[in-house]
Amino acid sequence: MIKAVRGTRDLLPPDTALWNFVEAAVRDVFRAYNFQEIRTPIFEETALFSRSVGEETDIVSKEMYTWEDRGRAASDKGQSLTLRPENTAGVVRAYIEHKLWDRGLNKLYYIGPQFRRERPQKGRYRQFYQIGAEVIGPASAGSESPARDAEILEMLATLLDRLGITDWNLELNSVGCAKDRAKFDEALRKALEPVKDKMCSDCQRRAVTNPLRVFDCKVPEDQPIIAKLPRISQFLDEPCRQHFEAVQSILKSVGVEFRINDRLVRGLDYYTRTAFEFTHGALGAQNAILGGGRYDGLSEALGGPSAPGIGFAIGEDRLVMSLKETAEGVLRKPDVYIAPLGAGMNGPAARLARQLRQHDLVVELGDENFRLKKSLPTAERVGARYILIVGENEVKADAFALKNLATGEQVSVARAELARTIQGK
Ligand code: AMP
Repeated sequence: MIKAVRGTRDLLPPDTALWNFVEAAVRDVFRAYNFQEIRTPIFEETALFSRSVGEETDIVSKEMYTWEDRGRAASDKGQSLTLRPENTAGVVRAYIEHKLWDRGLNKLYYIGPQFRRERPQKGRYRQFYQIGAEVIGPASAGSESPARDAEILEMLATLLDRLGITDWNLELNSVGCAKDRAKFDEALRKALEPVKDKMCSDCQRRAVTNPLRVFDCKVPEDQPIIAKLPRISQFLDEPCRQHFEAVQSILKSVGVEFRINDRLVRGLDYYTRTAFEFTHGALGAQNAILGGGRYDGLSEALGGPSAPGIGFAIGEDRLVMSLKETAEGVLRKPDVYIAPLGAGMNGPAARLARQLRQHDLVVELGDENFRLKKSLPTAERVGARYILIVGENEVKADAFALKNLATGEQVSVARAELARTIQGK
């Protein structure tokens, strides 16, 4: 038997109703902040990700689904293509390709699948879904302003509250600009030199290739060593420090709570200044629901003009997981199950169903060959509130037997009154 590939999964009803509920809330909330949707391709040239995400990151060095595409002629060397592991690179590529700076400040959001060859576990998949947004544009359009950072964070707080996820934590840090990072990098290398041999094998590698990543380490024995390492906050230059202060001050004005976490460095190379994560206790080890930050130099790294930007990506799989306990009532069950009884009744029943659906009722329709003995349990299984019987006598009278499945109460209702009765008006 062929099964779904490891790390991928089918999203089945009723869970898909939760996904749709989340996406509808996202579209609604983001619209209030004047964000508009962008859809970029699911695969891109490999170089886009190695240049933006960074060669040294786990994503690029070991997690990408990359293949060589066939050239036009058999002798052509194929192009190296990759399933997108994240969506910011694609958005910035599109920004450059379509000269979106002509539009001033761009506020874009996306919803879609991303692909990483990670070790699957609860809350971690190889095809997973992200909901993300990017604010990007020339500095003259205000893209560098701390007001944009704070607006994005406040929007996320609003979204999570709206979804009924109240026990979130916002962790905030500034990772400075490239200059600060270079100084920090040097200080870290120095501090790691005498202690790295006592650390886990991942950290030993990171100490050489990308010391910043040591802060991602979760190995308990390494924590006392990491606690003594220098922090990026000691290396921020004056403009970066002021930017960070301004973001915090706006968050306080709008009443969004946060916690400074000076170990938060995020997994991707392109971040500058503000970096953040929202976590949720109920998720266990994979407790980050979303992460994001500023990437003021990314457009230039991809050959575009200067275009400061800030964005985030929500793990939709995890968002849906943290929602499950509160999700009662999201799924709309049928209001009524229509049971045609006997030969020739499918037509009149379909006519009635059509009429009730026009009144925005959810209608499930049976078949004239089902006997009532079969229709009743079927109506109960689909969770209908009422069963409506369409037999020859009912059609003649143009009034139908309507039974409340919870109370067992049965009444005869004229066609014109049916929708209103079912709606309880
Ligand atoms: P990142 O792009 O790594 O900053 O991730 C942003 C968010 O996407 C994370 O906070 C997670 O919620 C989610 N995420 C990342 N990788 C996975 C994965 N393999 N499976 C499910 N969710 C993921």
